[in-house]
Amino acid sequence: MKLYCADWVLPIRSSPIRNGAVLIDDLHRIADVGPAEILIPKYPSIKPNLLEHAIILPGLVNAHTHLELSMMKNVVPAGLDFSEWAFQTITTRMNFSEATVLADCEKAIRSMVESGTVAVGDIANHAATALPYLRRSGLYATVFNEVTGFANHIAKQRFEEFFSKIVSFDDERIQQTLAPHAPYSVSKPLFELIGRHLHSENSRTSIHLAESIDEVEFLKTGVGPMKSMIERIGRWDASWSAPGQSPVEYVHSLGLLGDRTMVVHAVHVNENDLSILAETRSFVCTCPRSNARIDVGGTAPVKRMLEAGITVCIGTDSLASCDDLVLWNEMKALHSIHPSIPPETVLKMATLNGAQAIGFGERIGSIETGKDAALIAIRSIQKTEDPFACLVKGLDFLTEITKL
Ligand SMILES: [Zn+2]
Repeated sequence: MKLYCADWVLPIRSSPIRNGAVLIDDLHRIADVGPAEILIPKYPSIKPNLLEHAIILPGLVNAHTHLELSMMKNVVPAGLDFSEWAFQTITTRMNFSEATVLADCEKAIRSMVESGTVAVGDIANHAATALPYLRRSGLYATVFNEVTGFANHIAKQRFEEFFSKIVSFDDERIQQTLAPHAPYSVSKPLFELIGRHLHSENSRTSIHLAESIDEVEFLKTGVGPMKSMIERIGRWDASWSAPGQSPVEYVHSLGLLGDRTMVVHAVHVNENDLSILAETRSFVCTCPRSNARIDVGGTAPVKRMLEAGITVCIGTDSLASCDDLVLWNEMKALHSIHPSIPPETVLKMATLNGAQAIGFGERIGSIETGKDAALIAIRSIQKTEDPFACLVKGLDFLTEITKL
């Protein structure tokens, strides 16, 4: 048993505890949490480990990455419109040796662990790339094996091929499921096959949705830069017809939204879309730095989502559209775009909400008795009176992140 004491303990689901303590048992589970002045005398045989000028909190959850794209850092320039960015990413990602792909993937995972991330929702086109490193890293992970196939007639074939590519393994920290990529890369019959499978297995899923203005235009009218991009990469199907709906309406009409679905981006959502996301209890993952680097034509209305009762979490997206996988920097970016969202809400998005969105909400994301002790301690140069603000606004005076 270990008893850690710090200036602040942030349980996330309950109020912050000044001069708090956390008891961790030999199975590395949280055995108790509360004020140090109560826990120290309650466990007289345990020598307290006093962490000076420190904040104890749940490790962070990066709900959306593509670890296998880590070699793409700075390959595609910033500021392109979405369709051009997608074209360049799709056509250049194959230009790297396997050794580079693996080495950069491993480096990216290490940077997440070192910066206090304990769990990740990772999109995989080739599960075998990141999986061995994820298993060694100690991270909790949900691997969303991505399915694509725009042409209507290849739906069944793509769906069957997909299952033959799945890598099976047994690891209590890692779960895997399937995820349709986006409405501009998955045909309606393929969506229907995926939807039926997800319902029958009661599986979690994730989808890139309403990310760019190009996507909205394409689903509404069937033309525009998105159509040109699909033609340029040779995947256009003349039998495809635009649903004439918003991205959220379209995917909802196919039965893919629900409390086990994480919608990634949701930049272009109207009030009706927000009502659908709230009513279906879908999670939304926001990736503000990726949205800023690619010209997606706006910023996600995160404040409105929260007001609508949607559970919002945070992801960095891949290094193809973000400078690093450090979730603190994503929180800082989110805070600068939406300064009226309280820092404690931002921290909840980066911990408990993310854990729930990727299916680990019962085990991690908050400091509660019985949960796994996937916790971190952050030391600062001086005492802080406002731990949430100092964590969310910037780590300038924070010196050291330790996994407990
Ligand atoms: Zn993504």
